[in-house]
Amino acid sequence: METLACGHVAHPGARRVCPHMLNPAENEDVAYVRLLAGNGLDGDLCCLDCDRDGDPELTVVCEGCVALYDDDESGYFEGWRGEPGVVERPEPVDGTVTATPLPGPVLDLAPLPSPHGEPSWLVLGEDGQWLLRLSPRDTAYHRVCPVAVPAEANAQRRLHVSPDGRFAAVVNDRGRFGRVYDLASGKATIKLDGGTYHCDQVPLSLVFFRYAGSTLVAHRTDWNRLDISDPATGQLLTGRAQDRIAGLFHGELRVSPDGRWIADDSWAWAPAGIPYVWDLRRWAGDNVWESDDGPSRQRLCQRFYFWNEPMCWIGDSLLAVSGIGADDEAMLPGARIFDAETGLELNTFAGPSGALFSAGRRLYAAGADGLTIWDPFTGERTGTVPGFVPTHQHRDAGVLAAIRDGQLLTWAY
Ligand SMILES: [Zn+2]
Ligand SMILES: [Zn+2]
Repeated sequence: METLACGHVAHPGARRVCPHMLNPAENEDVAYVRLLAGNGLDGDLCCLDCDRDGDPELTVVCEGCVALYDDDESGYFEGWRGEPGVVERPEPVDGTVTATPLPGPVLDLAPLPSPHGEPSWLVLGEDGQWLLRLSPRDTAYHRVCPVAVPAEANAQRRLHVSPDGRFAAVVNDRGRFGRVYDLASGKATIKLDGGTYHCDQVPLSLVFFRYAGSTLVAHRTDWNRLDISDPATGQLLTGRAQDRIAGLFHGELRVSPDGRWIADDSWAWAPAGIPYVWDLRRWAGDNVWESDDGPSRQRLCQRFYFWNEPMCWIGDSLLAVSGIGADDEAMLPGARIFDAETGLELNTFAGPSGALFSAGRRLYAAGADGLTIWDPFTGERTGTVPGFVPTHQHRDAGVLAAIRDGQLLTWAY
């Protein structure tokens, strides 16, 4: 074993560093970039001065010194340079996108149970005044019930539907108000109020889920408070005192397909996005505080100035989180895969960008140029559907969907 430039007799590290980063213990404050060179996320490190001057002199140091930078013990990571590596493993893809004319304008849509495989949708239409049903081969919408949600400036109307198709919610994302509807009776069963404090920074947190044979709804009742209610009666199921509630702003909520886990794209002052996951069954069944400080809560990562970003569940226990990096200015398009139970990051790979969807053992990313398909367990790209940029998924029917020019575009995965 030789003596390396860092002064240690040790194994050489996989990444090289510029002359100003040779001694990580003495250079704790050095700001640096990673020089990607087409080999996954691997890249040499150089300080901002060397990056500015170009063509830095790079030297091998020991793996322990490299690890101090990798583990954020030394230095401040400022950004990526160059291009990451993306490994291709092509699989056959039928890229046929089916276009169906819509009977009328759509503000949003959500999947209804479709046991026979052809997708039925609930549609928020007629200027957001009606919930409508669209069944396969329909040439007209069927009115389900009228909608009366207070209008709010700069908010965006959004539709949610319960997994069993019995309840829907129409909410003002980046606003305060919404309503839960029982679609059988057309009655508004819950008047949602997420509070006003910085509500313009996040969607109006809401998700339906199944628990012990019933449909329940989790929703924000203040900037830092989530509750569970019974959408049939409006009854609050998680009543509790205010004093133990954490100082996190709740954001988009996503429930794993089996209803076991819930992910919250929350943020907190610096500001930073800090996604959490916790055990939804414990919250609904055992511990009303589970969403605040329950033992199953796992903090996944922290990203300054970065939330409201794509995430999706892969299978029942893995969460894919979009973006690799610690703040919005040093963010590389890619996916980080976390295990819900342990909070551990199992895989990280560059490439996926845009809205994320998943089915089986594949991750789908709706990038600006079209859909890319990934094996989230290896990080390999297995296919593309150029030009198709889906916004919705219909799990029963096995399709991804987009609305464009008055048409519903679907692609079967
Ligand atoms: Zn340097
Ligand atoms: Zn060393």
